[in-house]
Amino acid sequence: MLEQNLRLINENIAKAAEKTNRNREDITLIGVTKTIEAERVNQAVSLGVRDLGENRVQELLNKYPLVGDGQSSVNWHLIGHLQRNKVKYIMDKVCLIHSVDSTRLAEEISRQATDLGITKDILVEVNVGEEESKMGIRLEEADRFVKEISSLDGIRVNGLMTVAPFVENPEENRSLFRKMSQLFVDINKNILNNRGMSFLSMGMTNDYMVAIEEGSNMVRIGTGLFGHR
Ligand SMILES: *Cc1c(COP(=O)(O)O)cnc(C)c1O
Repeated sequence: MLEQNLRLINENIAKAAEKTNRNREDITLIGVTKTIEAERVNQAVSLGVRDLGENRVQELLNKYPLVGDGQSSVNWHLIGHLQRNKVKYIMDKVCLIHSVDSTRLAEEISRQATDLGITKDILVEVNVGEEESKMGIRLEEADRFVKEISSLDGIRVNGLMTVAPFVENPEENRSLFRKMSQLFVDINKNILNNRGMSFLSMGMTNDYMVAIEEGSNMVRIGTGLFGHR
């Protein structure tokens, strides 16, 4: 089942990418592994899924030694809310933190990175649907926020992330994804002086094709890959 799911996802990613004149390789698939045991995660890895996302630090730490062969074979992403006191546990384990949404969190990542002598790639999480229940900064505050944290040592704002509302019909999220793409372009040009943010992380099982059509280059897929949690 996993193999068929992955094949379908890869086909769909390729189709959606083609509509915007991109290739399958331009889009990163993150397999979201929350609640999925290490053995099944390893099946996905052996089928070629190289990027994995967890939304809880403890679950990531539990799976980290059990997945892949040696740490370099997979790239872990922290995609869920991150508490400042947990930052230190993941600094050397994740390639990208998707959920930076406060100055104090950015400062803590900066402090830890500086201590380690590294630069950590982060994404700024934007609550584009303006949902009470969702994390992330407001769209209107995003450029001010990026400007503020991009001066911190040890972190590199390398893109934006959003968790769009859950909708039955993915078309309902299209305008939100379009807003995110515009924001991505604007911030890159006006705030970061075209230093080049790489990642626009948006799209999940229900809406990843629409997200890619609107410019996403990183999709986070759990259910569609591993089945229902
Ligand atoms: C769970 C989760 C996903 C994947 O959701 P699916 O609908 O199962 O694909 C993506 N991003 C975040 C932040 C999540 O927590």
